[in-house]
Amino acid sequence: ISAAELTQETLTNIHQLNPEINAFITINDKAHIDDEEVVADRPLQAIPVAIKDNILTKGLKTTAGSQMLANFQPIYSATVAQKILAAGMVNIGKTNMDEFAMGSSTETSHFGITKNPWNTNKVPGGSSGGSAAAVACGQVLAALGTDTGGSIRQPASFNGIFGIKPTYGRVSRWGVIAFSSSLDQVGVMSRHVADSAQVLQAMSGFDQHDNTSADLPVPDYSQIKANVKGLKVAVPEEFMGEGIDAGVREQVQRGIKLLEDNGAIVDTVKLPHAQYAVQVYYIIASSEASSNLQRYDGIRYGFRAQDVRNLEDVYIKSRSEGFGDEVKRRIMLGTFALSAGYFDAYFNKAAQVRTLIIEDFNKIFADYDLIVGPTSPTTAFDIGSRIDDPLVMYMNDILTIPANLAGLPAASVPVGMADGMPVGLQMIAKPFAEQTIFNAAQLVE
Ligand code: GLN
Repeated sequence: ISAAELTQETLTNIHQLNPEINAFITINDKAHIDDEEVVADRPLQAIPVAIKDNILTKGLKTTAGSQMLANFQPIYSATVAQKILAAGMVNIGKTNMDEFAMGSSTETSHFGITKNPWNTNKVPGGSSGGSAAAVACGQVLAALGTDTGGSIRQPASFNGIFGIKPTYGRVSRWGVIAFSSSLDQVGVMSRHVADSAQVLQAMSGFDQHDNTSADLPVPDYSQIKANVKGLKVAVPEEFMGEGIDAGVREQVQRGIKLLEDNGAIVDTVKLPHAQYAVQVYYIIASSEASSNLQRYDGIRYGFRAQDVRNLEDVYIKSRSEGFGDEVKRRIMLGTFALSAGYFDAYFNKAAQVRTLIIEDFNKIFADYDLIVGPTSPTTAFDIGSRIDDPLVMYMNDILTIPANLAGLPAASVPVGMADGMPVGLQMIAKPFAEQTIFNAAQLVE
């Protein structure tokens, strides 16, 4: 099969599956590559990739899953998109997501629900649910996602695929629609660990447009050694306790045993402040979101309400009509937490507890190389079962959020099945130790 044929076949397959799964908001029918352009020694050359719809792609609609940006055509591409295209990948389309990446089920998208290919009554997780489903149903080998509180790892877990959120700063955020700037990070999802390693390799590195990107050399992630002999692995007892489904726990324990049988040294440890992670996250993430989303004022970007009488009307009506309920909930929460009189009690307190969580991790990583546990307390839940109860939905992220608060690299690796649905094993490593994750994950997958 030639490169041009691969692109065409991929598009045909995506069109065939999309009416049922709805993994894509925009299918890039113009995607094409001339066979003459193919340079054989580039590993990602001509490989179709799906890109989450909060990552800007020049000339290709980028909506962030929101009515606010339903017709938004970016005039430049995000650094990560530029980099993977420069490596030869073909942008085959933009994937569905929770509105502005706020959600854990892809049910808050303005463009309809994405279904879990393993069981179409179940959610694919979120917010990168479209990317995960596109990989799981075989539409693409790899997809980009973003992870602010678990949005790559939880859908990877729900769809039985690999997904990695790199260290904060490993990858540029320039051109990624901001949700919570101190937490957001772009990462990769794929069927196989080795494919994510190649893509992460291509998109990592310093970017002068993002001064939070790290000016450090990028190792060759493709040099994977599926070897955990002597690796010191910590299992936080808080990750295996109450609230974790029995079937999930059983599969995760099997994965841990596999590491042990292959020479890893496994101990139980404590992550005492992890219990506050969800509360801390919803204050910090919502505060940053309320600030980042101020730019959608009905004037500079996207949606503008009709039938307005004055300037204030433009702001109020455009934002009232353009944003969905979950986004409004976060803006209100964040505005409250940042307001004079409440700032110290909420935002400042959350920032302090965030530091305690970081210190918990530092203590563990003084003695260990890798932290493992479940990615999510449950397997994929039924569509509609949690969307009306935000607190239940938020608690779903309790195991993934700590790594974001500490800026650590973390991944989900498929480890088995419980009640007919996939289970993910989460791996968290030291800053910039993505290779440790790839090595251990290769052994488990
Ligand atoms: N589910 C979490 C939230 O709703 C995390 C989302 C994300 O990582 N983008 O905020």
